[in-house]
Amino acid sequence: MILVHGGAGTVAPDRHDRLRAGVRAAAAAGHAILAAGGYALDAVVASVRILEDDPEFNAGTGSALTRDGSVETEACVMDGTTHRIGAVAAVPDLANPIAVALAVLEAGEHVILAGPAALRFAAELGISPAPQGALITDRMRDRLAEAAAHEATASAPVDRSGGTVGAVARDRHGNLAAATSTGGIVYKRSGRVGDSPIPGAGTWADRTAAISATGDGEAILRVALSRGVAARVAAGMPLREAAIASLRELHEITGGSAGLIALDGSSRVFVQLSPTMPVAWVDASGGGDSIGDLIS
Ligand code: ASP
Repeated sequence: MILVHGGAGTVAPDRHDRLRAGVRAAAAAGHAILAAGGYALDAVVASVRILEDDPEFNAGTGSALTRDGSVETEACVMDGTTHRIGAVAAVPDLANPIAVALAVLEAGEHVILAGPAALRFAAELGISPAPQGALITDRMRDRLAEAAAHEATASAPVDRSGGTVGAVARDRHGNLAAATSTGGIVYKRSGRVGDSPIPGAGTWADRTAAISATGDGEAILRVALSRGVAARVAAGMPLREAAIASLRELHEITGGSAGLIALDGSSRVFVQLSPTMPVAWVDASGGGDSIGDLIS
């Protein structure tokens, strides 16, 4: 079973079909690994890579821009059975940060590598940053200009999140895994680290549940959203109730908005507080996609 999201936020209806097609392709790539008897960890990485390469999503190519107009990428992958984690945070210009996060996990020495210095580890893997500007799309240039104009004029606030990608999977051996990748939020300060690469905030997997979250990163960090879902499930709450309770708690405490996808041993859930969150899933009995399940 694999479930993929393409970010919680506000998306114009004319982009919905493209986003749904993107998450469907990503879910299919992850499912192909699971169907061949592969591991959940490899499946979530394969799904996320597809969306990092798709310029419609805010990860890898198409990342949100810092207020300097640069790209700083973030990703995390976690194996629920072993609690092994690899993450990269605020690393410039990685086209596939999830590949470097996986290498951090596999190396086993550290959990998170952050900032430009992490490019030295990437270089050891033979991974170079993309040429300056290569990951930047016109859509993200426009969103940066919009956010900068808002700062200058204090006009109506603009949505700075959206388009982050993530996947959760359960393989036939019973392992759970989660992965998330993002360019972060539009107009972020250089060096800002969001929730996506932080275990227990944007990404979490243990033997009970696997979660990838998206939305207002500072709010997600302040409540450790994904770990909160897993803790509720471990305490006996059904997965959907745990997800909804955790999102409501986030909103009550921070006033922020978020969404998440999650799997446990038998069920799956996708829910969000913001208008749209493209999702797709595939399991043995087929698959589907949706623009999300808005809860109040
Ligand atoms: N959560 C991401 C961040 O704050 C943004 C998003 O999910 O769209 O970096």
